[in-house]
Amino acid sequence: MPIERTLSIIKPDAVAKNHVGEIVSYFEKSGLRVAAMKMMRLSKAQAEQFYAVHKERPFFPNLVSFMSSGPVVVQVLEGENAIALNRQIMGATNPKDAAAGTIRAKFAESIDHNAVHGSDSPETAKQEIAFFFKPEDILSYVPENELA
Ligand code: ATP
Ligand code: MG
Repeated sequence: MPIERTLSIIKPDAVAKNHVGEIVSYFEKSGLRVAAMKMMRLSKAQAEQFYAVHKERPFFPNLVSFMSSGPVVVQVLEGENAIALNRQIMGATNPKDAAAGTIRAKFAESIDHNAVHGSDSPETAKQEIAFFFKPEDILSYVPENELA
């Protein structure tokens, strides 16, 4: 399986509830490695740009205001099949549908306060990683030529 990188955000609800360490531990226990990590607070403009794909959806204003409401932890996760694996560990968008043992089943309060973000395809992973990190800020565990 290919070694991939994906972008993860621990959202303001989970950071506020002091769940950063437990959530990172889900990734590590599943074989993903933290290749870059920073804490920041998104501006409204950054949140709008990051979720621009949803700008016509009715929930967009709420999503932007939530994502810029407090500190987040942004990470590059690296490992075999990292993009799909991260989505699996996260669980479904709506915690009511999230499988037992997933991050959202345990930590999400609702569909709009759902603890984590994860890239959903190789294309979005590349864009989202570049949105937050310069190449030199990513500390890889594999040679560049082994990355998908
Ligand atoms: P994320 O992109 O945050 O990882 P996702 O990929 O599981 O979540 P998307 O469809 O990309 O889900 O939606 C982005 C975010 O918008 C969701 O995490 C959720 O908080 C919010 N959202 C999506 N659908 C709804 C909805 N029907 N009602 C309210 N909020 C929603
Ligand atoms: Mg999404």
